[in-house]
Amino acid sequence: MSTGARNPLGIHAAVFAGGWSPQECRHAVSAARATGYDVLEIPALDPSAIDMKDTRRVLDDAGLTGVCSLGLDIDADISSPDPAVAQRGEERLFDALEIAAGLGGGYLGGVVYSALGKYNRPVDPRGRDNAVAAIGRVAARAAEEDVTLGLEPVNRYESNLINTAAQAVQFIDDVGAGNVVVHLDIYHVNIEERSVAEAIADCGEHLGYVHVGESHRGYLGTGSADLDGLFRSLADVGYDGTITFESFSRAVISPDLSDRLGVWRDLWDDGEDLARHAREFMAARLSARA
Ligand code: MN
Repeated sequence: MSTGARNPLGIHAAVFAGGWSPQECRHAVSAARATGYDVLEIPALDPSAIDMKDTRRVLDDAGLTGVCSLGLDIDADISSPDPAVAQRGEERLFDALEIAAGLGGGYLGGVVYSALGKYNRPVDPRGRDNAVAAIGRVAARAAEEDVTLGLEPVNRYESNLINTAAQAVQFIDDVGAGNVVVHLDIYHVNIEERSVAEAIADCGEHLGYVHVGESHRGYLGTGSADLDGLFRSLADVGYDGTITFESFSRAVISPDLSDRLGVWRDLWDDGEDLARHAREFMAARLSARA
């Protein structure tokens, strides 16, 4: 049974903005607020593109919490067996951690353990060892800054390292840090897991952040992802953490991120209408289960 605690509802900034100029920051924050969200997830693929202090001020003025997510690059990848490539990936994570800590939301998640993209071979065991060691070092610094690190299992076309909740939990056990959690995304669950309920059971006490997205990454309820099963299972385990809506359209996000995520067609062009619809969809299912 649910504890009845209200989950903070978040939205990925890519619903509103393709970059993070001062104007894009202001637009995304005001749109997230206008459409009823508590949390804004800001992509930090390029941490140097984010003016942390300005963003924090704009978030604080709007009463929103800012968190960060990213995927690493093939040439800056902590799961590479090449020490120089792994080192660049770790530096990227430390830069993103500084942004996440400065925003005050206390969370950095996503494909932080691997490059975000299609690998053409299985993970190298030395590369996995590099990733476990690097996440351990980043987690230690994150703990000093009160930041939680989330490992998001993604489908096989976006990483070769963590595709399932069970693999994420195994990785967390290998790291052995208390501030690393599973960041579960129903879009990826729909591709890789046996069922939503079993994926959430596999997370156990490690579930710490949730992404809600349709099977085609468009309007909720118009695809094949088991969204009712997701909200039922979250209530069953008493999940009271953040639930963030994520959706991508070439109409808004950068060509680079569109290409890496395989977003080849537009499922929507009005981010605010999409956001409002998703907010109502999620709130209705949460209140039905409270
Ligand atoms: Mn996601």
